[in-house]
Amino acid sequence: MKTIKDVFTDYKQGLDKIYDTNELGAITLLTVSEICNVSKAKIKAFPEDEVSPEQAEKLKSILEELKTGKPIQYILGKTEFYGLPFNVNPSVLIPRPETEELVEWVLNSVGSLKLAVGSLLDIGTGSGCIAISLKKNLLGFKVSAIDISADALQTAASNATLNAVDIEFIEDDILNIKSEIEIPKFEIIISNPPYVTLHDKTQMHTNVTDFEPHTALFVPENDPLIFYNAIAKFATTHLTENGLLFFEINESYGKETVKLLADKGFKNIELRKDMSGRDRMIRAFISSLAH
Ligand code: GLN
Repeated sequence: MKTIKDVFTDYKQGLDKIYDTNELGAITLLTVSEICNVSKAKIKAFPEDEVSPEQAEKLKSILEELKTGKPIQYILGKTEFYGLPFNVNPSVLIPRPETEELVEWVLNSVGSLKLAVGSLLDIGTGSGCIAISLKKNLLGFKVSAIDISADALQTAASNATLNAVDIEFIEDDILNIKSEIEIPKFEIIISNPPYVTLHDKTQMHTNVTDFEPHTALFVPENDPLIFYNAIAKFATTHLTENGLLFFEINESYGKETVKLLADKGFKNIELRKDMSGRDRMIRAFISSLAH
């Protein structure tokens, strides 16, 4: 019979070319915890405990999938974002911790600016992680979310059900919007649009570039801010008088994105870094009245 310790040894041997020691430990811990249905603390405390033959078989087949570079979140079909459960599959980007920081900024802004309850639009919702975590934490807000991908919207809708929230989903392309959006103006518009250039792609891990959806990630090299332009333009006519726009951004284009917003007339534009110290998010007001 295999022990938990044996599983850790197998995973280490099988994956040490793909992941660094920390990531490898975290992935193994998560996988054993999910498959054996035991807490991470118990796994660490009792490494000599045995796993059943069925569990050993499952752990082995997951190890084979991990060796192809497939992210563990896609293999397990789920992840966590802002303390909430989310279904994920290759039609949606795996939610990132930086995006949790953006969600936190929205929630703090609503509190500190004492924004009245209103409506919010998430553009390029993917798994729905932004829209759903905000809806869960902004009582009374009406939340709508757009995506170009019908498969992504299906996943987002399953996540809304999983988290028991009501969200209006709209299938459309923000670069060429056709839908009649029911709500004319929003208090908050937020987006984490595609922003990875071909140049960035060369520096990225293949388990992102080979497995995650390219429509959610990549932008043309010659127009890296294409989505920011379109969304900012849309926001100038779809934000309420005191409305706020939030973006997750490419760390290499902080200044350019701020300038793009200033050129479109946005005020009090603030650029913030993520926990790794990289320019990662922006908040802007549609009008100086708001401050
Ligand atoms: N931050 C994501 C990554 O590192 C990219 C997200 C996006 O393009 N919006 O892969």
